[in-house]
Amino acid sequence: MRVAVIGGGAVGVTAAYDLARRDAEVVLYEKGEIGGASTGRAAGILYDAFAAPEDARVGARAMERFRQFSGEGDFEFRETPYVWFAREGDEKRADLVREQVPRMAERGRDVSFADPADLRERFPAIDWDDVGVAAVAENAGRTDPGSYADLLAEKAREAGAELRTGVEVRIDADDVAVERADGEDGGAPADGREGEPFDAILVAAGAHTKRLLAMAGVPVPLKPYRVQALTAGLADRKRADLPMCYDATGGYYLRPHPAGLLAGDGTEEVESDPDDWKRDADREFRAVTRDRLARRLGEFGAVRESWAGLCVATPDRDPLLGELRDGLHVAAGWQGHGFMRSPALGEAAAEAVLGDNPLPEFDPTRFEGDEEFDVVEGMAIE
Ligand SMILES: Cc1cc2nc3c(=O)[nH]c(=O)nc-3n(C[C@H](O)[C@H](O)[C@H](O)COP(=O)(O)OP(=O)(O)OC[C@H]3O[C@@H](n4cnc5c(N)ncnc54)[C@H](O)[C@@H]3O)c2cc1C
Repeated sequence: MRVAVIGGGAVGVTAAYDLARRDAEVVLYEKGEIGGASTGRAAGILYDAFAAPEDARVGARAMERFRQFSGEGDFEFRETPYVWFAREGDEKRADLVREQVPRMAERGRDVSFADPADLRERFPAIDWDDVGVAAVAENAGRTDPGSYADLLAEKAREAGAELRTGVEVRIDADDVAVERADGEDGGAPADGREGEPFDAILVAAGAHTKRLLAMAGVPVPLKPYRVQALTAGLADRKRADLPMCYDATGGYYLRPHPAGLLAGDGTEEVESDPDDWKRDADREFRAVTRDRLARRLGEFGAVRESWAGLCVATPDRDPLLGELRDGLHVAAGWQGHGFMRSPALGEAAAEAVLGDNPLPEFDPTRFEGDEEFDVVEGMAIE
């Protein structure tokens, strides 16, 4: 079976690897560099703390594979617990945490409630005084997302996939063919058709997925939205016992990082143009994040880098993964959780292309494609 994968982010390279090792003939097209788009801008927070059965399954499989791959190439999965909490007085989110944790535990996730005294003892670097309800996920870690994409690209090549970087393509949905967007010959076939034919095309083009499919006349309900992150210095003694954490009331997260720490939030709840958006972080984001870090950590160092990137929303916050029409597959719409699930999502996308759909819950044909919906923050627990 000959398969084109469009997109060399974490999901596309994983799918290319899983297709190639199952003997598909794979060509992956990436218009920039491997991991150069959203994947390279991700925070690298990894956990399996999901309550819905399919999400918990995907999360568990992703953590299992991250651990398997750890140590290969430059990729390293660093075990780090993940704490999420609602502050005192935020009853709405406190109830949500109270409700989620037993459901996650029922699905076999290693999660438990923790009170501020437990947290203070275990993670003294952080001020937990205003915490109302908190939970800790133990099956969690952190990494450099680019190192994962590079490793999986290398593994895909070793398994026989051909990776064509610096090649932007369009698709012909009716002929299941791929052509270069610049009109140059991309290895056109001898049968008179313009594009290069495949048995299947997997579109894993991140924020460009909707536009690419729309150009081929296939509407999908996806909306890219902008999020922001920064790194800042932090004393080694504080970094040593810093968990990853998400303040659900404040809507921001932080994690240890080689620079000290990495923190982010900044979801713009509006659709972004994937070809025209501001790559730098906003001044206001940096100022607000500094205040939040000062409140949570006391002292920390100067902001080192700050940036923005795109995530992709769907109407029901669940991904679109599977066949859209004969031979045309999609894998996108991760709502800010694409990197941490990529080892499982890429694998599932590969299996769907090969005819066995392990995630029917994410069937993209559940939508018409023209649904109206609002962008809501990815990590929000509501
Ligand atoms: C600041 C920030 C922090 C984040 N933190 C986390 C986190 O901690 N954990 C987490 O799970 N997720 C996080 N995310 C989300 C995560 O980055 C994405 O969900 C994930 O990287 C998506 O991977 P992908 O492979 O689907 O898409 P991408 O990495 O965007 O890859 C798609 C690729 O397709 C290519 N492409 C597009 N159009 C074409 C075309 N026509 N021809 C050829 N190639 C094309 C693009 O160049 C791109 O490289 C974060 C995102 C941002 C911006």
